[in-house]
Amino acid sequence: MDLDSKLQNLLNEQINHEMSSSYVYLAMSSWFEETPYSGFAQWMYTQSLEETDHAMKFYRFLADRNAKVELMAIEQPSADYDSVLDVFKASLGQERRVTAQIHDLYSLADEVRDHETKNFLNWFLDEQVEEEKNVRDMIDRLELVGVNPVGLLQLDQEAAGRKPVAASGAV
Ligand code: MG
Repeated sequence: MDLDSKLQNLLNEQINHEMSSSYVYLAMSSWFEETPYSGFAQWMYTQSLEETDHAMKFYRFLADRNAKVELMAIEQPSADYDSVLDVFKASLGQERRVTAQIHDLYSLADEVRDHETKNFLNWFLDEQVEEEKNVRDMIDRLELVGVNPVGLLQLDQEAAGRKPVAASGAV
């Protein structure tokens, strides 16, 4: 079954959203590179790679559905943050926006009765629950330690232990 043209456009936009998200996380990683927090830098770097991988999943799905892939310009990300907590709060905002985008895609796929696309998007729905939870957990603990350097360095060390999740194997 050919993709509905509106759905095809939205899927192409999602490649861009995921790549933009990857770029935002890379900017966050670079912000941490200038601080003592190498673990948070690593966390954000891993997140950036995962977002690129998400983009590749959409790319592959469009190509496999015999649909035209259209790549769009990626906006320059902001790298202007006040604190560790500020970065993670921005990250939560970022993830909530992506969740809303996936919901829009799912609603449209449902409307045009494209069951394959709905099935494909299920993985992303699960992923967004996980992403939002991870960031919220980190925010909760950052709020708990406040500006205590010992607490911050402990969270930084934990963040360094984050392992990349191999999603599509595209990157
Ligand atoms: Mg993503």
